[in-house]
Amino acid sequence: MTRGIGRPPRGREADSSTEAARLSRELRAHLRHAHEDDLIPAAAPASKPSAAARPAAPTREAAHRALVEAVRACRGCPLGDARRNAVPGEGDLNARVMFIGEGPGFDEDRLGRPFVGRAGQLLDRIMASIGLSRESAYIANMVKCHPMKNPSSPDSRGNDRAPTPEEMEACRGFIESQIRLIAPQFIVTLGAVASKALLREETPISQLRGRWRELSLEGLPAPARLLPTYHPAALLRQPDLKRAVWEDMKSLRAAMDGAPRS
Ligand code: SF4
Repeated sequence: MTRGIGRPPRGREADSSTEAARLSRELRAHLRHAHEDDLIPAAAPASKPSAAARPAAPTREAAHRALVEAVRACRGCPLGDARRNAVPGEGDLNARVMFIGEGPGFDEDRLGRPFVGRAGQLLDRIMASIGLSRESAYIANMVKCHPMKNPSSPDSRGNDRAPTPEEMEACRGFIESQIRLIAPQFIVTLGAVASKALLREETPISQLRGRWRELSLEGLPAPARLLPTYHPAALLRQPDLKRAVWEDMKSLRAAMDGAPRS
């Protein structure tokens, strides 16, 4: 993985063993919880997630690989049954900025990668407008499997829906593990669903967007500054929202330029 926008190493290598061990514990707890609740069907290989959650080499990359494998093995909610591919997330493991959407759509389900459809192409341009890219940021979703209106038609386009609160709660361990692993200085939540779910509040996105918040998680060395904005898919439907997102991206760029790189 490349480092973000000329960012120097953050001196975390010495902590990687501790991080990997913590991530392993979190993943085991998450998967054990799913089994205890009978959320993982008997057909799911119960031993595989736990084995994958024990990195052979205690590095940040190994911890991320363990997380990716755990996501791919997960059947922690019904979304896992209809997906073609799980979409764990990708990018720079040392990224200063993490973009978080609500969940994969049709194209993402096909490729197993986040934000690769039309909305994703727009997100690429939005990031590029402030000197970021998918190689220098980290991109993930609240849920890792495609929420479908009709799960029996996974090959149909236009079958997308927002994840339910229950699905996001079932998957929450993964996004929180990713936030702890990346430990970004900045998080941009894309759209109402991800913003409200991560902040655990019901304020409308029109009021949330553009207002800096802080996200604290146990195990995070420092709270991440969190900026909600509109989802790129909303901009495709309502181009007049682009100005607000541009303002938000300028605010992000200014915050990055004004913050010491930890
Ligand atoms: S959405 Fe999350 S919890 Fe549900 S099956 Fe996929 S990875 Fe597991």
